[in-house]
Amino acid sequence: MTQTVSELEFTQNLSEHRKTAQERAAILANPGFGDYFTDHTAIVDYRTDTEGNGTWSNARIEPYGPISLDPAAAVLHYGQEIFEGLKAYKHADGSVWTFRPEANAARLNRSAERLALPQLPEQVFLDAIRGIVAADREWIPSRDGESLYLRPFMIATEAFLGVRPAREVSFRVIASPAGNYFGGELKPVSIWISHNYARAGRGGTGAAKCGGNYAASLAAQMEAEAHGCKQVLFLDPFNDDAVEELGGMNVFFVFKDGRLVTPALTGTILEGVTRMSVIALAKDRGLDVQERKITLTEWRDGIASGEITEVFACGTAAVITPIGLLKDETESIGSADAKAGDVAMGIREQLLGIQTGVLEDTHGWLTRLA
Ligand SMILES: *Cc1c(COP(=O)(O)O)cnc(C)c1O
Repeated sequence: MTQTVSELEFTQNLSEHRKTAQERAAILANPGFGDYFTDHTAIVDYRTDTEGNGTWSNARIEPYGPISLDPAAAVLHYGQEIFEGLKAYKHADGSVWTFRPEANAARLNRSAERLALPQLPEQVFLDAIRGIVAADREWIPSRDGESLYLRPFMIATEAFLGVRPAREVSFRVIASPAGNYFGGELKPVSIWISHNYARAGRGGTGAAKCGGNYAASLAAQMEAEAHGCKQVLFLDPFNDDAVEELGGMNVFFVFKDGRLVTPALTGTILEGVTRMSVIALAKDRGLDVQERKITLTEWRDGIASGEITEVFACGTAAVITPIGLLKDETESIGSADAKAGDVAMGIREQLLGIQTGVLEDTHGWLTRLA
């Protein structure tokens, strides 16, 4: 069923319990990542009628606060949930912009399809983001590298314990001020190779952005931390230990001869908006970008021979993070104090420059929010 946009105009029920200017200033002085939330949330409800027609309705901006859910709500039992992540940046002239939101809206709908959740019109996705940014504009940090992280998500709210797609769903957006992820200097991270756990399998949900993938990655993440590593690298053990990705970031390899290689999208990898953008910027720079299978063996040999000069991870939260050391119980590849490479740093600077409005947006990636 189609839904016209005018039917879904967001009503505003602004909070009477906003944080004070002092409280907000204290948070914005040191926002961190994902620890604090703004005063409002955007909500749209979905319901399927007895004829099986689904409708999005009751679009609204509400005060931020706990969700009241029936204990039998499907999301709490079967994990029918998807999410997105994107950032709003305040530019020097005070205008507010976001980066490729239509790509996030499209990916949300691909995730929705896989998790048997309803499709959300792109316009509703954008209006929800606009609504929350308009209500919480003073929460957008504006120092170097800072942003307002937007977290759209969709949950199955229907109360029932039978196993079928829920007929009641809620789409929401919350927002969290995000600091400069690395506080200045960009230090390469150490990565743990997960041999005991996989993130995704053939036909599974690896290409969807769903909470279940993250729940499944936590045991591996704990193993990584126990070995002094920041993040986990997932491999495909049934495919020659082909490199897949980190728990929440895609991976790139820079070769001495100007090739930039990243694992091909085979259905088990999440297609990052940052990944897409890095590929485009690398092509602009004349790099030979290859999306293909790359194995742990090629990584090990490439570092040993010097053919691979840089390895980096990318995603919305941290943008681009150089990978220094890769290790498991038996080996160490690379070095924990490797320097961030020129290619990774150059692309990172360009991407951040576009997002923050200091470099020209040659691809038309920015959308103005306010
Ligand atoms: C979100 C995510 C990424 C990065 O995607 P971006 O759109 O670049 O933020 C990579 N891998 C996984 C598993 C993710 O969930």
